[in-house]
Amino acid sequence: MIELKDMKGIGPKTLTLLNKINIYTIEDLVTHYPFRYEILERNTLQEIEDGGKIVIDGKVESIPILMRFKAGLNKMNFRLVTPSGVVGVSIFNRAFLKNQLTVGTGVTIIGKLDKKKNIITASDIKLEPLSNKIKIEPVYHATSGLTNKNLSAYINMAILLYGKDIPDYIPQKYINDYEFLNKKTSLNVIHNPSTQEKLKAVTVRLKYEELFAFMFKINFLKLENKKKNIGIKREIDRNKLDKFIKNIPFELTEDQLKAINEIINDLEDSHKMNRLLQGDVGSGKTIVAFLSMVANYFSGYQSALMAPTEILAIQHFNNLKNFLKDEDINIELLTGSTSKKEKEKIYKGLEDGTIDMVIGTHALIQEELNYNNLGLVITDEQHRFGVHQRANLQNKGKKPDVLYMSATPIPRTYALTIYGDMDVSTIKQRPKGRQKIETYLKKNNEIKDVLEMMYKELQEKHQVYVIAPLIEESENSDLTNVNKLKDQMKLAFGSKYKIDIIHGKMASGAKDLIMQEFASNNIQILISTTVIEVGVDVPNATTIVIFDADRFGLSTLHQLRGRVGRGTSASKCILISDSDTPRLKIMEKTDDGFEISEEDFKLRGHGDLFGTKQSGDMEFKIADVKSDYKILLQAKKDSKEYLENKETDNDELKKYLISTIVQKES
Ligand code: ADP
Ligand code: MG
Repeated sequence: MIELKDMKGIGPKTLTLLNKINIYTIEDLVTHYPFRYEILERNTLQEIEDGGKIVIDGKVESIPILMRFKAGLNKMNFRLVTPSGVVGVSIFNRAFLKNQLTVGTGVTIIGKLDKKKNIITASDIKLEPLSNKIKIEPVYHATSGLTNKNLSAYINMAILLYGKDIPDYIPQKYINDYEFLNKKTSLNVIHNPSTQEKLKAVTVRLKYEELFAFMFKINFLKLENKKKNIGIKREIDRNKLDKFIKNIPFELTEDQLKAINEIINDLEDSHKMNRLLQGDVGSGKTIVAFLSMVANYFSGYQSALMAPTEILAIQHFNNLKNFLKDEDINIELLTGSTSKKEKEKIYKGLEDGTIDMVIGTHALIQEELNYNNLGLVITDEQHRFGVHQRANLQNKGKKPDVLYMSATPIPRTYALTIYGDMDVSTIKQRPKGRQKIETYLKKNNEIKDVLEMMYKELQEKHQVYVIAPLIEESENSDLTNVNKLKDQMKLAFGSKYKIDIIHGKMASGAKDLIMQEFASNNIQILISTTVIEVGVDVPNATTIVIFDADRFGLSTLHQLRGRVGRGTSASKCILISDSDTPRLKIMEKTDDGFEISEEDFKLRGHGDLFGTKQSGDMEFKIADVKSDYKILLQAKKDSKEYLENKETDNDELKKYLISTIVQKES
C-alpha cells in the first residue's frame, strides 16, 4: 500500500499533524475510529425552549448580509424558511460560505435559539439538509490545526481510494461463520453510520477483529515459547532445598509450597520459564523468590532480583543476606546511587561469575550488564514496571528463566491480555495467624481519637507508620506534609517515643539508615510519603495512619495498608479525610485485593489501571477488554483454533500475522 505522505491531499504540514495523533500509515488513518458519535435529530421551532440547542432544516430566504469587524472577524445574517416557520440565522466567521448561501439553498442549521428575537445563533451550517430524521456524526480525537471535519474528509478519502487494500485480520472462515461485513464496508459504516443498528453490528465486527489479532499473537508467543528449547535445562537438588525450607522460622503455606514447586519444575524444564507469581500484599511472595534464587544457585547459575524502589531493593538485599548468612554465596546490591567505582566492580563480578546474586532497581536493566551465566531473573512488584520494561538482559549463556511477582491481583480479563503469554502461580492463603486489618475512616476533627488509637498501639510496643501526601509545606496546597506532621507527632509522643521521617528526596544512605532503625524498633513512629508504598516489611508495625487519604488512588491505599498486618498481631489502618470519596468506603468495606482491583477498575476504567497506560500494551483502538470480555473470549478461542490448524499454515493472513510478531520481538 502507498505511504501516507503520498496520499492525495496530504502535504507535509498535515502529515505532521496526523503523526501528532499517532497516525503514521493509511491503515492508522482509516482505523482512527470515532471515540463517540453525535446524534443529530431535527427539531421544530416550537419544541425548543428559549436558549436551547436546535437542529433544523430549511431554505435560505434572503441574501445573507455580511458584516466585517476588526481582526478579520465577521458575521452573517439571513432569513431561513423551515417547515415550522421562518427564523433569523446569525453566524460568526463564515464569510467564506456567503457565495454558496444563495436564496433557495437547502441547509441544516445547528445552533442556539433565541425565542424572543426569533434568531438562531448558529455554531454550524451544513450545506446539505439532513436526509434522515436522525444523523449520526462521528467525533474524533483531533488536534489543533486538524479539525474533526478535516479528519473525517481524509479518512473517507483514504477508504475510497485504498479501502480494498486495508488488511482484514479475520480469516474468511470466521467472516462467513459470523456473517461479518467485509473490511472496507465496515470501515465505511463506522465512519459514516446511517443507523444505530448498522453501527452496532460493525462495531462488534471491528472489536472482534482487533481482539482476534491480539489473541493470535498471545497464543503464538505462548506456543513458540513451549516449542523452542531455548531455556536452561538443569537438575535441582530438592533435598538440599528442603533443608533450607526447614530452617525458615515459620511454616510455608500450601500455596507458597505449590508456587515453589511450580517454579522448580520450570527451572528444571528445558523451556524458558515465563511465570507470574501473584498474591495479595502480605501473602509472602518474597520467601518464594528467595527460595527460587537458592535453587537456581544450587544448579550453578546467577540470579538477579529487580525491585521498583531503592528502599525495597535494600530491604531485599539485607533480608537475603541474612537468610543466606551461613552460605558462601556472594550477593551484591546495585542501584542508581551505587558509586561508580562500586558499580564497575559489580559489573566485573557479574561478567566473570564471581557474583552469585544481584539485587537492584531499574539500574539492572538500564545498564548493559553482561552476566556470566544468568539463570534466573525475578521482578518484584511487576505492575510497577511497564510491561515493556520486562527484563532485557544480556547473557552469555542461554536465556534465563523469568519470574514476575505482582501484588496487584489482576482481574481475570486483564490477566488474559497483559499476562496472557505467561503461566501464573497464585498465592491465595494468608500465612497462619494473620488477623484482618481493621480500617477506620476519620475526619480531621477526630484527630484526638486517632492519637489515642496510636498511643494504645505504642503502649503495646508496636510501631506506627504515618503517611502524608507532601514532604514540606507548599504555597499552592494545604495538604498535610511530612515535616509538619513530625512537629505535631513530637508534641504528642516525643517524650516517650522516637519519631523520624523518610521520603523520596533523601539520599539513599539516609533512607537505608532510617529503614534499618525502624526495622530494629529504634524508631517507633515513621512519618513518610508514599515511598514506602510497596514491599516494605516491618511486621512489628501494626498501625498505619494516612492523612489526606482521599488524595490517593485505591491501589495505593491498598498497598499502603499492606504495610501492616504482616505479623500475628491485630492491625489497624486509619484513613483521615473530610471528603466522602467512594474509594475510602471501599477500603473500609474490604481488604481483599482482588475485590479492590475490580472496584478500582470500575472507578477508573481500564486505561490507567496498573500503570499499563504508558506501556502501550493494552491500547486497543476500539475494543475494551473489560466490557468486550465475551468477544475477547470468542476471539481467544477462534484465534487458537486458527493458529493450531495446520491446513491454514499457507494462508497469507496467517503468515502476515506471524511476521508482524516476529518483527516486533526482534
Ligand atoms: P508480599 O507478598 O507482600 O511481598 P512478604 O513476602 O513481604 O509479602 O511477606 C510478608 C511477611 O510475612 C514477611 O514478614 C514474611 O516474613 C512473612 N511470611 C511470609 N510467609 C509466611 C508464612 N508462611 N508464615 C508466616 N509468616 C510469613
Ligand atoms: Mg513484596
